[in-house]
Amino acid sequence: MKILKFGGSSVGTSEAIGLLAEIVKKSIATGEQPLVVCSAMSGVTDLLVQLSQTASRGNDTTEAFWQLREKHLQVVEAYFCETQGVWKQLEQFFTELQFVLGGIAALHECSARTLDRVMAFGEQLSCSLVSAILQEKGVVTVYADARKLIATDNHFGKAKVNEAVTNERIRLWHSGLGEKTAVVTGFIASDAQGDTTTLGRGGSDFTAALFGAALAADEIQIWTDVDGFMTADPRWVSNAFTLHSMSYKEAMELSYFGAKVIHPPTLIPAITAKIPISIRNTFRSEHKGTTIQPNAVGNGHLIKGISSIRNVSLINVEGSGMVGLKGFGGRLFSCMASADVNVILITQASSEHSISFAVVPNDTDTALEAIQKEFELELFSNKIESPKAQQGLSILAVVGENMRHSKGLSGKLFQSLGRSGVNVVAIAQGSSELNISVVIDEEDLSKALNVVHDSLFLSPVKTFHLFIAGTGSIGSELLNQIAASEKSLRKEHQLYFKVMGITNSRKMLVSNKGEIPLNDWRGELNIKGQKADIEQFIEQIHQLNLPNSIFVDNSSNQTLVNLYPQFFDLNVSVVACNKLGVSGSFVHYNLLKQTARKNGVSFFYETNVGAGLPIIKTMHDLRISGDRFLKIEAILSGTISYIFNHFIGEKSFAEVVKEAQQLGFTEPDPRDDLNGMDFSRKMLILSREAGLKVEMEEVVLEPILPESCLKAKTVDNFFEELVRNEHHFNALKQKAAADDKMLRYIGVIEEGKIRIGLQRIDRSHPFFSLSGSDNIITFTTMRYKNNPLVVKGPGAGAAVTAAGVFADILRVAQN
Ligand code: ADP
Ligand code: ASP
Ligand code: MG
Repeated sequence: MKILKFGGSSVGTSEAIGLLAEIVKKSIATGEQPLVVCSAMSGVTDLLVQLSQTASRGNDTTEAFWQLREKHLQVVEAYFCETQGVWKQLEQFFTELQFVLGGIAALHECSARTLDRVMAFGEQLSCSLVSAILQEKGVVTVYADARKLIATDNHFGKAKVNEAVTNERIRLWHSGLGEKTAVVTGFIASDAQGDTTTLGRGGSDFTAALFGAALAADEIQIWTDVDGFMTADPRWVSNAFTLHSMSYKEAMELSYFGAKVIHPPTLIPAITAKIPISIRNTFRSEHKGTTIQPNAVGNGHLIKGISSIRNVSLINVEGSGMVGLKGFGGRLFSCMASADVNVILITQASSEHSISFAVVPNDTDTALEAIQKEFELELFSNKIESPKAQQGLSILAVVGENMRHSKGLSGKLFQSLGRSGVNVVAIAQGSSELNISVVIDEEDLSKALNVVHDSLFLSPVKTFHLFIAGTGSIGSELLNQIAASEKSLRKEHQLYFKVMGITNSRKMLVSNKGEIPLNDWRGELNIKGQKADIEQFIEQIHQLNLPNSIFVDNSSNQTLVNLYPQFFDLNVSVVACNKLGVSGSFVHYNLLKQTARKNGVSFFYETNVGAGLPIIKTMHDLRISGDRFLKIEAILSGTISYIFNHFIGEKSFAEVVKEAQQLGFTEPDPRDDLNGMDFSRKMLILSREAGLKVEMEEVVLEPILPESCLKAKTVDNFFEELVRNEHHFNALKQKAAADDKMLRYIGVIEEGKIRIGLQRIDRSHPFFSLSGSDNIITFTTMRYKNNPLVVKGPGAGAAVTAAGVFADILRVAQN
């Protein structure tokens, strides 16, 4: 025979009960002789607890009571035209419940004993319904109230089972069942006085195990709403996947640490009787689910699963007097046991100076008081310090029987936590090496679960969260490129980028419900966006606390640059095409680099010089491989490059500038390019990357334009001045032409100095044949001494710049 246990969601709606009926009928048809155990409909136990609390405060329970009736009535209506039989039975339960609630309200109190009685109605109601519906579908059933079968002590809320008595009762009852299929109420039992008790929340699994053990079942099937025991709770870890099999010990350990798919003590009767347990999905009954059996079977991963307990307090006892104090631990934990405090986890520093242990928040004060009392003398004589409690923590546990054979596992665990900025408050490792537990801040739990899962299960796809500032030509092109390459990145590189936030100078949007759709980010930003406020933007990123987050700055805004350290401190990497960051003061440049390094995050800004050309990365690679820069020569302004490439033959300088302006190659005011500021910034960045400690004032800039042109009031005046100064430009051009040379505006870094100026270069120079608006740069280094390394190509334009930004994002991902 087999035990089929259906959880709250499997009896939660009429549709679910329909699926349940199919499963039971199939089991009967294959000769499995099923015995059905059910929980209360989902949410009902909570509702009953709420009803008792409301009643005990003397408040009105009508609405919640109505909700409860309605939930059951809906199922009755879905299945029976003639509602008489079962509805009458349910009505009787409701009348009884109302009576009990009346008592609670009259006394203004609800004892643990009364609460158990109230909670029991949940299973009474659901099982009566299920039994009637199965009957309706042609199964001969009998409703069985487990209070008559499971004997417990009177520890209300979580009673201890007397297995000997229980087994005997179950066997006797079962022998009289004949061909009938029993539908047994989970969770509830009774004490020697006949008072209702419960087995602890989630205890229907336990009921199933007790029946399984008593009747030596072939299998216990736990039917729920997920495909089986998964590597982590799927509500928190989107990459979690179902495990085909696991050992009793592993399941026990994972469920102890919060994997609520099964209830911890469930397994004990099953383990003792060596009965296989399987976890199955009521809503996808074709899925094989997970089998839990005596021995572990490897599955190619370092661990089996990750689970967590939210909201715990850590109590710390320390003091020099503890060293060598015999029996200290014994006394400490016996006093916890006498105070009825459940200790979830213990860690002790090897110095014996301190012991920390975790408890549920409700037990915190009791625990502290118990310690004060037990160690009154030691506290008085300052042998130990007053115990302290730290609240708002969570425990994350990684579990697996294979862990003891896998070296480097804890390294991986702590590295992934550290890289995501998760602070580890305490660590415990079971001596069986089945489990490593870490205590962390509650607010980091979701992030921690995901990064640890990704790192230990080598998750097939690694997810990154992007926050994008600036939606001008580069920003919008970048979003297009991300959208266009989504499929291939996922398939070929196992990378997935989710855009979670976008801001421009007007509006901002940070999504806490999944990513922003890239096919309509503009519409989404307009409709759902708030007024832009960068401090708020950061705050929302902080609140989301997502792992693998990257801030992408496509703006030219100084305020954003000042905020980069805040991003780094939040463990968010930064990719910037904004040049103001690394071209500010040297102190700020250094601060950015140091803060990023300290937090273990990336800071990339390849597009600051030469758009998508590999310049900064090349310099970095040369430097770390031990090379040294002797000279760097560069043309880094596409605009100036274009102008001098076309300032040949008959054309006047003013004409060429006008032409460049009309083609959109210059800023609206061409002087913003021709004044050399942008070029200077780029040269400054290059020299810093080469290892020089320089400031903007040290860049020696020989202007292209005569003073009067720079000073002209309007753009039109500027062009007039250019015409007036034509002789100056003409002279330069003619002199160059006469010597068979080209005019080039070149930046040079040599012997610690940066100069930018107009040069006349001959045919042998690598810059002679530069065309269009290309950038070019040559590195003369110790290794590339006689034949410098040259990088050349388009150094401006939205498409290549966005591609460069995207490449930086990919570098962060692959780091
Ligand atoms: P039931 O109502 O069927 O008893 P529960 O809600 O008690 O179901 O348990 C099933 C839920 O357990 C799942 O919906 C899932 O969210 C949660 N869960 C937590 N950890 C895990 C895990 N490691 N594997 C599967 N489910 C898990
Ligand atoms: N109905 C009970 C609860 O919600 C028992 C169970 O579902 O297993 O805790
Ligand atoms: Mg459950």
